Amino acid sequence: MIPIQNTTAPHWSTELAQAIKSPAELMPLLGLSEQTLPPAAQAMTSFKMLVPRPFVARMEYGNANDPLLRQVLADDIEMLPSAGYSKDPLEEGNHNPQKAIVHKYERRILVITTGTCAVNCRYCFRRHFPYGDNQLAQKEWDSVIDYLTQHPEVNEVILSGGDPLMLKDSQLGPHIEKLNALPQLKRLRIHSRLPIVIPNRINHELLEWINNSRLDIILVLHSNHANEIDQAVAEKVALLKQAGVTVLNQGVLLKGVNDSVEAQVDLSERLFSAGILPYYMFTFDPIEGGAHFDLSVSFAQRLMGQVAEKLPGYLMPKLAKEIPGQPAKTVLAPTLSR
Ligand code: SF4
Repeated sequence: MIPIQNTTAPHWSTELAQAIKSPAELMPLLGLSEQTLPPAAQAMTSFKMLVPRPFVARMEYGNANDPLLRQVLADDIEMLPSAGYSKDPLEEGNHNPQKAIVHKYERRILVITTGTCAVNCRYCFRRHFPYGDNQLAQKEWDSVIDYLTQHPEVNEVILSGGDPLMLKDSQLGPHIEKLNALPQLKRLRIHSRLPIVIPNRINHELLEWINNSRLDIILVLHSNHANEIDQAVAEKVALLKQAGVTVLNQGVLLKGVNDSVEAQVDLSERLFSAGILPYYMFTFDPIEGGAHFDLSVSFAQRLMGQVAEKLPGYLMPKLAKEIPGQPAKTVLAPTLSR
């Protein structure tokens, strides 16, 4: 049964249209002076700033180092040259057999549905991805179906982006119907940060096409800090679970955001309370512009070793690294202190 929609809630597209687009707009909402912040004009030209207001509402008033703010605030430090960081750290360009398809792993393909997101995360490993060349027009979805037909070994499609939930449900619904019709497919995975930054994205229309799909649906959310998960997120996750969706989370280990034992423990605990299972915690992908978020692999392993001492196994995300050319993600063992 599809839950009754709360008609008083603003539509997600309205909240998206009202997203913050500059530090000048954001700072007064947080009681911060723009003058105390680093210059950001060049960084904003390279990668625009975009932050929905429901996400801003979870930032701590007056805290210039708020972990949510750090993830979205443009900073000209991004423009400093950084040896060893590249525009395509995962070499996805080498696995892009046709427009909008990334085929790295044998039995699943990733479809770049759109280049846009509801939030621009400064550390994003796809911040330089050539989305313009990979934008999938409505009618080009047929080429994805053709590709799948030619690759019967593929049993899972991952909708990614950008953020696939930026597409309207009136666009997504027909695409999912075409995927439903391919007997080889078992699962549909959706990678999205939208329900975190605008929980109202989980609405009646979305639940309708989910309920109509024969595929097992896995929603992999992206959140990095416990403060991102509030009651509104938890309520929407409950609706997804009622519809049979498996809800997981993947995060990225980021300097100044979640690089402490307490932050990691709190994130896993809060996710579980909201009905979300921690899945992956990725080490940083060396993307040009994001070097100030980077932490060494050995630091990550030591940190997660200490986290493992505090959490039950089912709340421990797998610490992982994507190494270009590898046939699967590389899972890194936490370093235990004794
Ligand atoms: S939502 Fe995801 S894809 Fe979009 S900018 Fe953030 S990390 Fe990148």
